[in-house]
Amino acid sequence: MTPRRTLIIGGGIVGLATACRLGERFPAESITLLEKETGLGRHQTGHNSGVLHCGLYYKPGSLKARLAVSGIRQMVAFCRENGIPHEICGKLVVAATESEVPALRGLEERGRANGLEGLRWLGPAEMREIEPHVGGVAALRVPQEGIVDYAAVCAAMAARLAARGVKVVTGARVTRLRRSPGGWLAETPAGVFEADFAINCAGLHSDRVSELAGERREVRVVPFRGEYYKIRPERQHLVRNLIYPVPDPQFPFLGVHFTRLIHGGIEAGPNAVLAFAREGYRKRDFNPRDLFDALSYGGLWRFLRRYPSMCWYELRRSFSRKLFCRSLQRLVPEIQPSDLAQGGSGVRAQVISPAGEIVQDFQLIPRPHALHVLNTPSPAATASLAIGAEIAAMLPEG
Ligand SMILES: Cc1cc2nc3c(=O)[nH]c(=O)nc-3n(C[C@H](O)[C@H](O)[C@H](O)COP(=O)(O)OP(=O)(O)OC[C@H]3O[C@@H](n4cnc5c(N)ncnc54)[C@H](O)[C@@H]3O)c2cc1C
Repeated sequence: MTPRRTLIIGGGIVGLATACRLGERFPAESITLLEKETGLGRHQTGHNSGVLHCGLYYKPGSLKARLAVSGIRQMVAFCRENGIPHEICGKLVVAATESEVPALRGLEERGRANGLEGLRWLGPAEMREIEPHVGGVAALRVPQEGIVDYAAVCAAMAARLAARGVKVVTGARVTRLRRSPGGWLAETPAGVFEADFAINCAGLHSDRVSELAGERREVRVVPFRGEYYKIRPERQHLVRNLIYPVPDPQFPFLGVHFTRLIHGGIEAGPNAVLAFAREGYRKRDFNPRDLFDALSYGGLWRFLRRYPSMCWYELRRSFSRKLFCRSLQRLVPEIQPSDLAQGGSGVRAQVISPAGEIVQDFQLIPRPHALHVLNTPSPAATASLAIGAEIAAMLPEG
């Protein structure tokens, strides 16, 4: 029997990790990974916060919770095996006022339900032993969380794939997927690729790639830009590691926070602003196709009607350093607008349902001869190897 030929579309961390885990489960499989850019990990993967999330926030029993908890273990093991810079520094989730304490208690329960060990409830004095400049009335210490260099993770995954003979083709945007008798023909500027099975890991474009494969686009990816500030070097002593707010349970984003970077420096952010382009890293970026796609989707309008004040607030905060700083002062009261220097940004691929709900869980959708990874927002970088293993387990024997 000839080995199955599998095509992975998308060379972000999820596509790369899927190729690694697939190769381990099916050593004879012939795997080709197609990436539209000239390099790997140029979109969500290359623009994230570099945090190793351990599964604190996610609904117990959800795919996200399960894959986050096992994902961080797999990612840390991968980093150790490959000498990738990472550090399990732990984080504090801070209740800024008494009114946030019940939600923080809820988060503690959720973390325990997800199997996290070592969570510690801290009062003001204990919090300040860990982060001397933190404000607030109580905090949850999460010891398992850490920081990592995801670019180095991707490079190590790519090296592993090359050693195994996986073909990684860059500059290969899949523009058409045609059915062939046993599978697919994928058309790209780098040539036509034939495969028995296709795995769509196209991140910000995953809904479009699923449509190329003949699926109805029932849900849509909506881009949310996350903007960062860098803390000026002379004020970096205000933050030792990771300081997070209590998130709004209605919303999938964690709220602006402080992150120490693995190669030095402290970042603040990201916010979550509706973007006018799926790869719109600057405020003025605008893509007519993406905008039309968003505005012609009833789900987005329902989302805007559900959360008008939050969307408006995020937009205002995006243009106001003072407002951004006010959110940060809830965590570290001494921080001032003048301590913040412009940083980078990333765009999240967030699926919104036709009813206008943020789709919280990861969506891995099996189809004949195909599997679509439709919603892998944070913490999918941390969980990428677990997602890859899950996908490999969903594939029939070749
Ligand atoms: C601001 C921000 C902060 C985040 N912080 C964290 C964090 O600290 N920790 C964490 O775990 N997660 C974090 N995340 C989430 C994490 O980065 C993503 O979940 C993860 O990178 C998703 O990886 P991916 O491979 O699915 O997507 P991507 O990295 O976007 O990769 C998809 C790839 O598909 C390619 N592609 C698209 N269309 C085609 C096509 N037609 N043909 C060929 N190729 C195509 C794209 O070019 C791209 O390279 C953050 C995300 C953002 C945006």
